[in-house]
Amino acid sequence: MKIRLAAPITKDSIVDGPGIRAVIWTQGCPHRCKGCHNPQTHSFDAGIEADVNDIIAQISRLKLHKGITFSGGEPLEQAAACSEIAKRVKEMGMNTWLYTGYIFEDILSECQATRPEWGELIKYIDVMVDGPFIEQMKNLLLKFRGSENQRVIDVQKSLIEGKIILIEDK
Ligand code: SF4
Repeated sequence: MKIRLAAPITKDSIVDGPGIRAVIWTQGCPHRCKGCHNPQTHSFDAGIEADVNDIIAQISRLKLHKGITFSGGEPLEQAAACSEIAKRVKEMGMNTWLYTGYIFEDILSECQATRPEWGELIKYIDVMVDGPFIEQMKNLLLKFRGSENQRVIDVQKSLIEGKIILIEDK
């Protein structure tokens, strides 16, 4: 399976979730947030094509890493490939974060309606930072998110309890 990336994996991020993390920069985003820091990731035709098995192999060689983070771009637009990576990463004992411009509640309803691949992906995601970047709500003091509307969500607890469970910024 192939995935379109904006750049090679970043292997030692400390700002895209807790601990040392590998970041997967998916290419293509439909949200077009004003003030987006990564406008080069918007086009669905740009970037580089990568093999999912190669990405998984790269991650398996990381020894000090706490987890991986899907960023972009919009990872949900390549949910099947991200799902395969996330599933294998969870088997390696690492945690998974995902940044999306979609709203968590909308993702859940679309899983049932038109995007079953989103439901498959979120089974393997521990934490989701949701919502578009809103320039008027930008706050540089926020950890792991850019604007105050965005939420750091414990995905699995939220699914079990049937309501949004936020995690502390840590
Ligand atoms: S969702 Fe993220 S990548 Fe997409 S336009 Fe908004 S800030 Fe940029």
